[in-house]
Amino acid sequence: MKTAVIYARYSSDSQTEQSIEGQLHVCEEYAQRNNILILNTYIDRAMTGTNDNRPDFQRMIKDSARKEWNYVLVYKLDRFSRNKYESTMHKRTLKNNGVTLLSAMENIPDTPEGIILESLLEGMNQYYSAELSQKVKRGMKETRLKGNFTGGHLLYGYDLKDHKIIINESQAEIVRYIYEQFSLGVYVKDIIKFLTAKGIYNNGKPFARNTVYNILKNEKYSGIYRHGGEVFENMYPQIVPTDIYENVRAKISENKYGKRSVEVVYLLRHKLKCGYCGQPISAETGTSKNGQVKRYYKCLGRKRQNGCKKSMIGKEYLENLIISAIIEQLSDQQIMNTIVANLLKIQEQLTKETPILNLLAKEKRQTEKAIKNIMTAIENGIITNTTTKRLKELEERQENLERQILLERSKTAVKYTDQEIRTYYGQALNLEPQMLINYLVKEIIVYDDRIDVIYNSPIMISPDDENRQGFIFYSKTVKLNAIQNLIITLRIK
Ligand SMILES: [Zn+2]
Repeated sequence: MKTAVIYARYSSDSQTEQSIEGQLHVCEEYAQRNNILILNTYIDRAMTGTNDNRPDFQRMIKDSARKEWNYVLVYKLDRFSRNKYESTMHKRTLKNNGVTLLSAMENIPDTPEGIILESLLEGMNQYYSAELSQKVKRGMKETRLKGNFTGGHLLYGYDLKDHKIIINESQAEIVRYIYEQFSLGVYVKDIIKFLTAKGIYNNGKPFARNTVYNILKNEKYSGIYRHGGEVFENMYPQIVPTDIYENVRAKISENKYGKRSVEVVYLLRHKLKCGYCGQPISAETGTSKNGQVKRYYKCLGRKRQNGCKKSMIGKEYLENLIISAIIEQLSDQQIMNTIVANLLKIQEQLTKETPILNLLAKEKRQTEKAIKNIMTAIENGIITNTTTKRLKELEERQENLERQILLERSKTAVKYTDQEIRTYYGQALNLEPQMLINYLVKEIIVYDDRIDVIYNSPIMISPDDENRQGFIFYSKTVKLNAIQNLIITLRIK
């Protein structure tokens, strides 16, 4: 019999969340239906999913190393994490420990296509919760129309005064400086260097690369705030002139490896293998004769002197080469068509099979029944502190369930169209390829004159294209240096 632990999380700030009890209930039912034995439960109360700073979550990840169970069962994937990067990392840890993440509500097949759809759902999830909370908290829109701040984290460069967002002049000056320098072509690391040298810090520490990129990518600084498909121009006073903002935006989309390089690189590193001796290839740092720091990739076999002669290769060079080759291939119209067609097929299946609404309806009936029983008890004169407390709990749960049902209905009503999936896929590919690379690329075998990128997935094969028969269906030759050409082969295994 397969075994599992349940992970449940509840953050009190959302009105649309399923209670811990509700989550456990649904997970237990799922386990029963699928003949899975539950060994333990991990619960984080009042914890947000936007980071992994959650005690029981950490304990669960750590315990997975004991390899005592097969699955982590969650009510929905967003319980596990709302942060794609962390989610990817933790899923990898679980996978290494032989543990698979299962969602009781989202019946997603464990295939590469299913995994891409999962990332699509994760991406769309936030959009939907934003959409719904707007519907539920109707007042919010009016608040926004008045230009009032609706709560949450206040953006760097702004202050709050009488519920209105105003410019924090000293921070705004730094924001403007960052934008201006970047639009002039100054590197982010040099902008940070300058700020640090001037003693300008963020929360007592030098500005992080990510922070600067996030500033450079935030449209609010140009005075525009988008929410739920609407544009509000009266919430954030403009700090950066529109032309500079547009210039920076164009530059950033040009520079694909900007913000996420650390993440992509981290993922690549674990997939690189030496073509000659089969040992992993890892990043090294060295200093050249003139004192310059050089980063490169070196075969571990050669490092441990196993006789391997694989030459070293510049770190950034190799990384950019591989990433751009993968992105280029996955952007190929025909490959894209195949992937999108597969995603549509799975989506069709999912909406047919989805047990979510049935489960929610069932739970609602049970809650109604429980409320009725308590009402009868009260009519019969049995009123204690416990009964009233229980009644209040049930009523809250009832309200929650109604919101959930509304959310699920809106989801199945608005099935993603071919065009929407295409758009999302294209964006994911350009803005955060690490997700797709992690799931789709199995390993990258590096030789001196060629690199084989091996995919996990058969979805890249287009059956009606004769040129792509066999395993090797794409290769790219790039100049490695004056005397040598490098062939990148992308194939499936
Ligand atoms: Zn080697």
